[in-house]
Amino acid sequence: MKLPVYLDYAATTPVDPRVITKMTECLGLEGRFGNPASKSHVYGWNAAESVDIAREQIADLIGADSREIVFTSGATESDNLAIIGVAMAHQKGSRKKIITSAIEHKAVLDPCHYLENLGFEVVFLTPGRDGIITPDMLEEVLDDNTLLVSLMHVNNEIGVIQDIGALAEKAHAHGALFHSDCAQSAGKVVIDVRKMPVDYLSLCAHKIYGPKGIGAFFVRKGVVRPFPVIRGGGHEMGMRSGTLATHQIAGMGEAFAIAGKEMKKDNERIRALRDRLAEKLLELPETSVNGSMESRVEGNLNVTFRGINGENFILALRNIAVSTGSACTSASLNPSYVLKAMGLSDEEAHSSIRFSIGRFTTEEEIDYAVDLISKEYIKQRKAGNLWKI
Ligand SMILES: *Cc1c(COP(=O)(O)O)cnc(C)c1O
Repeated sequence: MKLPVYLDYAATTPVDPRVITKMTECLGLEGRFGNPASKSHVYGWNAAESVDIAREQIADLIGADSREIVFTSGATESDNLAIIGVAMAHQKGSRKKIITSAIEHKAVLDPCHYLENLGFEVVFLTPGRDGIITPDMLEEVLDDNTLLVSLMHVNNEIGVIQDIGALAEKAHAHGALFHSDCAQSAGKVVIDVRKMPVDYLSLCAHKIYGPKGIGAFFVRKGVVRPFPVIRGGGHEMGMRSGTLATHQIAGMGEAFAIAGKEMKKDNERIRALRDRLAEKLLELPETSVNGSMESRVEGNLNVTFRGINGENFILALRNIAVSTGSACTSASLNPSYVLKAMGLSDEEAHSSIRFSIGRFTTEEEIDYAVDLISKEYIKQRKAGNLWKI
């Protein structure tokens, strides 16, 4: 067993060995290293073929047409393209309101704040204690001035799944566009754009055993195209310039194809491990799970351990790699804004840990983590390691 035990799959995943093989084939002189935009020789054609295959693989996973997929550097860029790009494309229009939620990733929140400075009105919905944004909550704030609704599919901290199909329907009823950040859901939850009336989706490779630094943007055929955020050369239908990173793209395609084939089997195995972890941790005194257990991805468990200082607790858990969801800004530790938006106190948010389990997690690792956490938690509670402001 490799130590520390990696239980931070929601932050990033290792690259699947099958993906590494595909990527390696696109790098050297013997491989598909050419520029996919080179139209006059076989090096370019081969690279272009690899890109075409990957585009199909990504489109297939979400029920899209390959012409609806644009490659970007990751979900952060796709979110920027969706929010800033759509706002810029409608600068002359009368709709000036954007609706999102307080529990979105910073890649959505920061572009929204940027647009606020440019004169757009942004509404940040807060979820219920279960972490869910209901269609009724959205309906309350929708009006004919709403340009775009951006709500994530799966939250990165609590793993809660939103009903983006129903939310998109509400948005459309008011003539608004709908975007969803699917960085945490692609390859883990079924996405089918033929059944979900979404307009734009952000996708990412490195949360699903692909490489970092590559992502994709789904833009439905016939829907307004966002203005580009990156210009120069007009690649990707003008929406994203820059030489296509063949090895990254081929890797993402392979990762998505594997996810499509193995999602069901992976999820069953991961759910059993997660339930084993949950059962044991919830036997400990004053522990509880954050977010809905029903509408949740298999790999996530976010637990509050009450009556201890979360940061000190984490420090003592050096042999497991987990996340507290606290953003460390200079000297101060901020409690998770996601947990706070759900109604947790500062103390509770500071004492919460996100465990995220993935394809390579073993039962032995889960048992090791449970054992370590139980011992340390009991010890720290006895020692009175309380959270102090
Ligand atoms: C990881 C993540 C992102 C950022 O994706 P990158 O590809 O790393 O830019 C955006 N949104 C969510 C929900 C994420 O989990």
